[in-house]
Amino acid sequence: MMDRLELQKLRDLPIEGVAERLGLTVKHHKALCPFHDDRHPSLSFKVSKNTYRCFVCGASGGTIDLVMRHLGKDFKEACRWLADKHNIILDEWKPSTQKDTQKEPSPLCTFDAKKYEKFFERPWLLLEARKFLFEERRLDERVVRWCRLTSWKDKQQVPWLQTPYYDREGKLVGIQNRNLVKGALPRFRFPQGSECSIYNLPVLNLLKPGDTLWITEGCSDCWAMLSAGHKAIAIPSATLLKRKDAEQLSIINSQLSIEFHMYPDRDEPGERLFMQLKERLPNIVHHQLPPDCKDFSDYYLSRR
Ligand SMILES: [Zn+2]
Repeated sequence: MMDRLELQKLRDLPIEGVAERLGLTVKHHKALCPFHDDRHPSLSFKVSKNTYRCFVCGASGGTIDLVMRHLGKDFKEACRWLADKHNIILDEWKPSTQKDTQKEPSPLCTFDAKKYEKFFERPWLLLEARKFLFEERRLDERVVRWCRLTSWKDKQQVPWLQTPYYDREGKLVGIQNRNLVKGALPRFRFPQGSECSIYNLPVLNLLKPGDTLWITEGCSDCWAMLSAGHKAIAIPSATLLKRKDAEQLSIINSQLSIEFHMYPDRDEPGERLFMQLKERLPNIVHHQLPPDCKDFSDYYLSRR
């Protein structure tokens, strides 16, 4: 079962962001209440307490309650849904050997790069991975090679796409495993201590003054952007721009005289991420996706 630390992480997810992920439209900390026939927004969010309350039907609670009630899920299912949507890895999804030997969830546990580096020296793409990357996503092979994407099968024969995260100096700092079985949970898994923050930092070494750098949400949009011939980095998730990542962007901005561009996702979290980035990168240029494309990957596919 989930431990206290994990539950706290789920409870601390910004309530308005969770509501938006559920499809509610949040404006001025209010939304139409999905639990009664609401014509004027009566559901209000208290950001300070991270809770919601409807002053008409009385529905109230935190992030987990909101998901349970809105999607008709039980507690555990709601936790899994929240974790999956926000790239949080639950203890029950970690390999069992780790669970037995390390009872303490330790955020200080360091990432064992030595153990994983060799996987990326000779990337290996399973049939499932090639289908995903080249048929579904239509990515450029050179991009897949540059990103050193590889794949593997676990003991249960589940195929995973393995994405390495490097720092600017090219040191391996984290790994994201993506489940290649459609609709299967968990969608993502991260080895212990993985630092999957800003993706594709080595690209910064290729930039010249005056160059354009695109910022995307998530690594798959980043691959699409690279395949379209642009230089790009990715922010892990729109609902969770960490302060550390924001600070790193400020540093990049002050060191390199480059232009930042972005196609925010066509939803509230996407636009909110853009506004947060604009605080750090005042000159970032906003591009609008066409109405039928929810993110850049969609747009990329529609143009090919
Ligand atoms: Zn209500």
